[in-house]
Amino acid sequence: MSLLKQTTYKPLTEASAIELSINLNIFSEKANLSCKEIGDGNLNLVFHLVDQDSGKSIIIKQALPYAKVVGESWPLTLKRAKIEAEALKTFGQIAPNFVPQVYYTDDVLAVTVMEDLSHLLIARTGFIKGATYPLISKHLGEYLARTLFFTSDYALTPAEKKAKVQQFINPELCKITEDLIFTDPFLDAETNEFESDLRPVVEALWQDEELKFQVTVLKRSFLTEAESLLHGDLHTGSVFADDFETKVIDPEFAFYGPAGFDIGQVFANLLFQVIVNVPKRELFITHIETVWNVFEEQYSQLWNTENKEPLAKTPSFLRFQLAKFFEDTIGFAGCELIRRTIGLAHVADLDGVEDEQTRLAAKRHSLELGKILVKQRKEIKDLTAFIRTVREGF
Ligand code: ADP
Ligand code: MG
Repeated sequence: MSLLKQTTYKPLTEASAIELSINLNIFSEKANLSCKEIGDGNLNLVFHLVDQDSGKSIIIKQALPYAKVVGESWPLTLKRAKIEAEALKTFGQIAPNFVPQVYYTDDVLAVTVMEDLSHLLIARTGFIKGATYPLISKHLGEYLARTLFFTSDYALTPAEKKAKVQQFINPELCKITEDLIFTDPFLDAETNEFESDLRPVVEALWQDEELKFQVTVLKRSFLTEAESLLHGDLHTGSVFADDFETKVIDPEFAFYGPAGFDIGQVFANLLFQVIVNVPKRELFITHIETVWNVFEEQYSQLWNTENKEPLAKTPSFLRFQLAKFFEDTIGFAGCELIRRTIGLAHVADLDGVEDEQTRLAAKRHSLELGKILVKQRKEIKDLTAFIRTVREGF
């Protein structure tokens, strides 16, 4: 039976992934196909299919009804595949250069068939191996400006905006962020994971009332501010790159939230390289500056030329908007630094530092900078002040 228009979900195998691609007429029945499950992610299956003769290739990503990293004890909605596919399509229309093409989606099988990006490398992996990707920050600044502007109230009609908010209601995946970024790292939760040597600094963090208050303010923003359609998980593990191209994948956490959340995750994940990659520190500081400068320039241009809100056209409102985004960016970046250091989901930039004392120092640095960014974000009013704050930590 064809795998098209299935009425019940079942996980694909390498053999049935091949069958699906033939049912879709992507490959002919006679093609000499290879298929391998390559998912290194935490949540889903990812199949890589190649026609050995022509070299043509595709990716089939399928959600599992539970989180792969934990196992069947952590059930997770299959609807996230539909959210991811629709977000890829929405972002693909707005920023086609920076998003993989989607060839086919099936909500029942929870499957997205998309462009194979295997000629690129996951940016986090590339950075750790020494790549610098000269264009990645310019591309991410442009991606952020376009996606955050064109999905907002300033580009959509009121009805379109509300329909999109509804389309991207994503409670289960948002709950993961609410817990793992904004709650668990700030109290003695079971999900936390850190070296026992860090316990004194972590306990000090749990007792920092001002920090917890400011994190709760940021969490409130995440819960309530439907500014733009966010990617929702925009770390460097969700970005494919080489020296020329940048592609943003994996938007299963997409929902309407505060724009600074996506920008802040980009900042924080570049900051990990600023912290650990001593010889290339200046280069990664420049990457962060470029992300913001390109974002600001292109967002402002879209604001001035495409804005649907007559009363928002005054320069003072644009200034207000950008200052608000910047403050949020700094605060959310701080939360990301902290949760990737002591929460459930770590980053290889920090964990991969082999020398124990260097690694612990990097983690203490990440926690300290995270705290400063969260608590002092109102004083860190612009890029210059932000970079000064980052440099003061060395
Ligand atoms: P998860 O949501 O489970 O984290 P991802 O979308 O991040 O899944 O994909 C997991 C891994 O699968 C990626 O790190 C990458 O190695 C591979 N992958 C995902 N999408 C593609 C693609 N379009 N082309 C090539 N490889 C991909
Ligand atoms: Mg992923």
